[in-house]
Amino acid sequence: LSMLITNQVKCKCTAVLHESTTKLFIDGKFVESKSPEWLDIHNPATNEVIGRVPKATHEEMLAAVDSCSRAYHTWSETSILARQQIFLRYQQLIKDNIKELAKLITLEQGKTLADAEGDVFRGLQVVEHTCSITSLMLGETLPSITKDMDTYTFRMPIGVCAGIAPFNFPAMIPLWMFPMGMVCGNTYLLKPSERVPGCAMMLAKLLQDAGAPDGTLNIIHGQHDAVNFICDHPAIKAISFVGSNQAGEYIYERGSKNGKRVQSNMGAKNHGVVMPDANKENTLNQLVGAAFGAAGQRCMALSTAVLVGEARNWLPELVERAKGLRVNAGDQPGADVGPLISPQAKERVNSLIQSGVDEGAKVLLDGRNVKVKGYENGNFVGPTIVSNVTPDMKCYKEEIFGPVLVVLEADSLDDAIKIVNKNPYGNGTAIFTTNGAAARKYTHEVDVGQIGVNVPIPVPLPMFSFTGSRASFRGDTNFYGKQGIQFYTQIKTVTSQWKAEDASLKSPAVTMPT
Ligand code: NAD
Repeated sequence: LSMLITNQVKCKCTAVLHESTTKLFIDGKFVESKSPEWLDIHNPATNEVIGRVPKATHEEMLAAVDSCSRAYHTWSETSILARQQIFLRYQQLIKDNIKELAKLITLEQGKTLADAEGDVFRGLQVVEHTCSITSLMLGETLPSITKDMDTYTFRMPIGVCAGIAPFNFPAMIPLWMFPMGMVCGNTYLLKPSERVPGCAMMLAKLLQDAGAPDGTLNIIHGQHDAVNFICDHPAIKAISFVGSNQAGEYIYERGSKNGKRVQSNMGAKNHGVVMPDANKENTLNQLVGAAFGAAGQRCMALSTAVLVGEARNWLPELVERAKGLRVNAGDQPGADVGPLISPQAKERVNSLIQSGVDEGAKVLLDGRNVKVKGYENGNFVGPTIVSNVTPDMKCYKEEIFGPVLVVLEADSLDDAIKIVNKNPYGNGTAIFTTNGAAARKYTHEVDVGQIGVNVPIPVPLPMFSFTGSRASFRGDTNFYGKQGIQFYTQIKTVTSQWKAEDASLKSPAVTMPT
């Protein structure tokens, strides 16, 4: 990390990031962990070790949650206008530092610099949205429900909240979490992905610079022990999780059993249904971008194409376009597809491609042996297209999370809808068509939470919510937007009567009030 922040002055982050060990952020201080256990952080383009992250000790995790608990007493009583001002300053600081944040993301996560800026930008939009908290947190009122009696509601913060984040969006996903929780008056304990912790630390420093009081955000690092700590600690009232199904289902169960609210966004298998009447040029470009962008490491990547009818003849052109993408380290000019996060991820993706071959699919474009000059040790897989795939194949059933597009064929829109609805995941999908009736039928009949019509990655803006469904989500209140506010608040309903003295009750009322 020391290589990275060279000319960076704006956010005074140098002190935090110049060392190669990732600090904990406890009670407003960036502190070195005393842990005997550390994990290496790698640059995915080279596999060089670029830093180390601690597995926080139990005492350090306790100190972090205690700091959140102490800060809650004052933060929850801080005026909503003061909290709003902090997030107004925060969004400006993120904008001012977007390039530095992006460089850090590319270094630790591997995605291209342009894509890393998009990662920050989509998180920034959530921060911008938190600035309308004075409207978002309004309650409801109903006057005169009976004589002299009114009912009104407050949205109150719930206490200490926690977030557990994945590696693939080092900025956007933490920014879905703590700004939403904190602006509502909660304090926040964040556990970033241990593979990409740097960006969250820089975001924490910027938040401190924006004026967030000590203890309102604490950051711990680690893996299973840190996750279990969050699931079990009684002071933590709510957990936001984003990541794989394996972790997400476990966290949902363990956290819920302990009486916490849990929202758990998980894995995906997103289908792009291509109708033969679609705008071919636009559709093929959209498909290629959404399948291979970020090396397919997006939960909303369009990883499965369903070509309907004559659209199956577009395959050769699809392959040609995918061949045009440049695989390179994310910080190299012109790079379209960066490396995967780890050698293990590369091996897994390659073995899933091979499983397709073994089960009778056809590899039309094979990125397994791609060589990137100067980055021979990186975790690169080039764009790969596997056709003749059927729903029983492993490469279709599993989330690949790499630059691999599996292609199925369908005779009609009804058949395509059946395929999509039979798949257990419900994160995202898209239909490409010029026929409004087909688009309407698809959006109504498909059982998926987020649908694009000629839009390949329909991640909703923060005035809406991220509404993945079925196996892609556990919980009942989604991330950000109105649902995010609901997740991070408790409604208090007050029924109040103010009578003139001469109208007071003359005797006890023992029947149920009606
Ligand atoms: P991951 O589940 O491996 O890690 C996520 C977090 O959980 C990390 O902080 C990690 O430390 C922790 N963790 C990992 N394994 C655990 C376990 N067995 N028990 C307890 N905690 C554990 O996920 P990842 O590889 O970092 O991210 C990729 C996954 O995230 C993909 O499946 C992707 O689809 C999903 N994702 C989903 C969304 C969404 O909004 N639906 C968004 C981004 C990523």
